Amino acid sequence: MNKTGTLFLVATPIGNLEDITLRALKVLKEVDIIAAEDTRQTLKLLNHFDIKASLTSYYEHNKVEKGNYIIQLLLEGKNVAVVSDAGSPGISDPGEDLVKLAIENGIDVTMIPGPVAAITGLVISGLPTGRFVFEGFLPMNKRQRRERIEALKDEVRTIILYEAPHKLIYTLNDLYKVIGDRRIVIARELTKKFEQVVRCTLSEAISLYTNEAPKGEFVLILEGADKEELIDAERKKWDNISLEEHVAIYMDQGYDKKESIKRVAEDRGVSKRDVYNKLMLK
Ligand code: SAM
Repeated sequence: MNKTGTLFLVATPIGNLEDITLRALKVLKEVDIIAAEDTRQTLKLLNHFDIKASLTSYYEHNKVEKGNYIIQLLLEGKNVAVVSDAGSPGISDPGEDLVKLAIENGIDVTMIPGPVAAITGLVISGLPTGRFVFEGFLPMNKRQRRERIEALKDEVRTIILYEAPHKLIYTLNDLYKVIGDRRIVIARELTKKFEQVVRCTLSEAISLYTNEAPKGEFVLILEGADKEELIDAERKKWDNISLEEHVAIYMDQGYDKKESIKRVAEDRGVSKRDVYNKLMLK
């Protein structure tokens, strides 16, 4: 039986052609075929480094049929590299589906790591990098988009989004409507000649891009929700009902008095003793 080939996920530059690793160049030279999201873009890269390779396209609209073809090649023992039009394949592009398919077919999958626009933007944003979420592109469908943004409202981790220039202003407005004003970093044309990083608030970003049409590629890095503010808002919800009513809510749910007092104390951010004493005084 033939030994199957390896699927190499090869990261390529997100703008500056010098951001390619020696190992990426070696693999691109040595594989039997390169599956590229945008063959013209990849050809530019290959020509720049004088690499002669056999190219095939693999993108969102041919990913099913081409995915099967690529798997067939791998099963026949061919080594295949997959590259996206920029950055790391598998991040907001169909590379993700090919990895899944290869794993299902018992094919070895490995990556030649390199640039990712999301991480490049995050690192220079100045916002917390210890915990973050990557959301990619927000859905286009109105309801799904609204639900996604609603879900991000209370997200305390730094949030990373991708956006196309012609949709940037809509996204900034949609975020502002649901989330309110927050710090945002807009990283544009990273690693390219006109790299620009704007650190401002959502409302400032809206006025900036209302006056000036956005051009280029964008990563948005949005500050996470303030945990203290969320806790305060959660506690304020209980300001309008008395302690007795609050305890009764839990007792109606079947908790005994001790457990209900404990839950009330947690909700209000006070000690159990406090709740108990206040109830006794009434
Ligand atoms: N796989 C890529 C990666 O690793 O980042 C991302 C592919 S995704 C289809 C393309 C999006 O990435 C663009 O719309 C933009 O939001 C972001 N992007 C790519 N290159 C960028 C750059 N040089 N500067 C800012 N954003 C970039």
